[in-house]
Amino acid sequence: MRLRNVAKGAILSVDVEVSGSLSVALVDLDNYRRFPAIDRPLFRGSTDTLLAFSITAPATGTYFVVLDNRAGNEPRAVEVTVRASSAKTTETTRAALDAFERDLKKIFVFEPFPIRVERCGAPQAFAGPAGIVLCTEYADKLYEALRDRAKAGDALLFTLFHELGHTLLAQWKYPFFADEDVADEFATAVMIMLGQHERVRAKAEFFAANPSIADAIAKVFRDDRHPLSPQRARNILRWAKDPELVRKWQPVLVPHMQSALLERLLQRPPSWADRQLIEKELAGRAR
Ligand SMILES: [Zn+2]
Repeated sequence: MRLRNVAKGAILSVDVEVSGSLSVALVDLDNYRRFPAIDRPLFRGSTDTLLAFSITAPATGTYFVVLDNRAGNEPRAVEVTVRASSAKTTETTRAALDAFERDLKKIFVFEPFPIRVERCGAPQAFAGPAGIVLCTEYADKLYEALRDRAKAGDALLFTLFHELGHTLLAQWKYPFFADEDVADEFATAVMIMLGQHERVRAKAEFFAANPSIADAIAKVFRDDRHPLSPQRARNILRWAKDPELVRKWQPVLVPHMQSALLERLLQRPPSWADRQLIEKELAGRAR
């Protein structure tokens, strides 16, 4: 698999899904030409299920993902996804995205969809039939407005959970999936379930306490569907303080949660867990 014109400093994130053992390498052109005598791969690993890795391109040029099944004697079905993102926005954006995807697969059962970071020409983040798109301009504007990487990272993570709300609720045929308040509630509830209570609260408190920044951001984004308004921040803050919110969402979420997670929740139930609901769900799956 050839990746052309990769800029120096760009981050390449690769996901490999395979039906049996396979070795995977990411190499530059020099090493590719020397195959199989690759001596300086940027990445080398093997897997028999899933493999995800990211590298930073050391120079502008062409790179290759090399899938090697010479050790095996059966054909393999392989799916490879490569995402490239520019050096400027990458570190924080990529870190937020990686954490997000890791968390997601641990919690929910869903049809996989791509989450892309790309230059769109406008500071937006949106969910659509093709998955979630986070425009690099959106991340840039957040950093500019907040001047704080940690705060921008938190805001970005919340945005991702919000878009996830639209995507998963649509996938699960929940009737109000397009509603902005519903997506915000979903984001707040799921982040609290993931132990991100502090980050949600800090983010909402910051925006509620700094309406001028929230207003400035809302103006920059000029996106009717996604205003980061002080009003929205106050809503999120109210929900984050409301122990009933997470409980209220359980009937929607539990049917789509990973069995391993449900079992862990039964063993050590957090305050928001609904024992009866979880037991019923697990019993239904065991049949
Ligand atoms: Zn939305």
